[in-house]
Amino acid sequence: MSTQSRVKLIDGKAAAARVLAEVSSEVSQLHGLGIQPALAVVLVGSDPASQVYVRNKVMRAEETGIRSIEHRLPADTAETALLELIERLNADPEVNGILVQLPLPLHIDEHRVLQAIDPLKDVDGFHAENVGGLSQGREVLTPCTPAGCLRLLQDSYGELAGKHAVVIGRSNIVGKPMAALLLQAHCSVTVVHSRSSNLRELCRQADIVVAAVGRPRLVDANWLKPGAVVIDVGINRIEQDGRSRLVGDVDFDSALGVVSAITPVPGGVGPMTIAYLMKNTLAAARLQHRTLISQPQLSEASCPSIS
Ligand code: NAD
Repeated sequence: MSTQSRVKLIDGKAAAARVLAEVSSEVSQLHGLGIQPALAVVLVGSDPASQVYVRNKVMRAEETGIRSIEHRLPADTAETALLELIERLNADPEVNGILVQLPLPLHIDEHRVLQAIDPLKDVDGFHAENVGGLSQGREVLTPCTPAGCLRLLQDSYGELAGKHAVVIGRSNIVGKPMAALLLQAHCSVTVVHSRSSNLRELCRQADIVVAAVGRPRLVDANWLKPGAVVIDVGINRIEQDGRSRLVGDVDFDSALGVVSAITPVPGGVGPMTIAYLMKNTLAAARLQHRTLISQPQLSEASCPSIS
C-alpha cells in the first residue's frame, strides 16, 4: 500500500450533511412546539463573493426548515441606517439570528455594527460578550468556521486531549477562536502568525495543524510531522495552466506524502462553516425560547469547568 493511499481525506461535505441533518431534525421538533427558527441576513452593497455567500446561506437555511429573512441594502447605506435596522431585528421576537455579511463598505465601522447585535442573536459569535464567554469556557454562540473545524477534528481524531495543535493565523474570525476551542478540547495550543520566528519548526512539532492564513500553499510537507492531521481553512484563488482555481494554505499534493488526514480545498472546511451557521441559529432560537425548551444546546465544544 502506498503512503498516500493510507491518508484519510476529511470530507467536509459529508460532515456538513450530517450536521445539517441533525439541525433539520431538531428544527422540526421546534416546529412541533410552534417555533420556527428565523435567520436575518443583512448584505450591504453588491460584492460578488458576498452575494454568493449570502445565497448559499439562505439556501441552506431553507433546506433545514429555518426561515431566512434577507435585507439587501445599497452600498451607500449610512451607518446609522444599518444600526437602526439591527435595533429593529434585535427587538423582533420572530428573528432568532442576525448575520451581517462582511466585509462592510469602508465608511461603516464594522466593530460598532457587530457590537450592536444582541449577543443572544449573534450567530457569527463575533460580539465581545460571546468572544469573552468563549475564552472563559462558557456556553456561548461560537464563530462558525472554527466550530466546524473542531467538529472535523473530533470526527476524524476522536479524543483531542493532550494533542499539540498549531494554529497558523490569529484573526478574530478564525485563528483566535480556533485556539480557544482547541484549549477547551484539552489540546496544548501554539498560535503562530506573520511575526512568528521558526514557523516551520513550530509547525513540525504539531499533531494537529490548522492553517488560516490566506497564502496559497504556504505549508508544504517540510512543515509537517509524519502522521499530523491538517485542517486547511485557507481559500485562495490562483491562476494555474491558464485556469482560475481555488487552493488552500497547504500544498495538498506535497502534504499527502506526510500527513495521516487532511481537508481538501474546496470541499473541506467551507461546507462546515455554513452548517455551523445553521446550528448556531438553532441554538439561538433555543436560547430565546428557554421557557418552552428545557436544554438549550450551544457548541458541544463548550466545557465550562476546565482548569
Ligand atoms: P486574516 O487575513 O484576517 O488573518 C490571516 C492571519 O494569517 C493573520 O493573523 C496573520 O498574522 C497570519 N499570516 C499572514 N501571513 C502569514 C505568514 N506568511 N505566515 C504566518 N502567518 C501569516 O484572514 P482570516 O479571515 O483568518 O482567513 C484566513 C484564510 O481562511 C483566508 O484564506 C480566508 O479566505 C479563509 N477563510 C475560510 C473560511 C471557510 O469557511 N473555509 C472562513 C473564513 C476564512
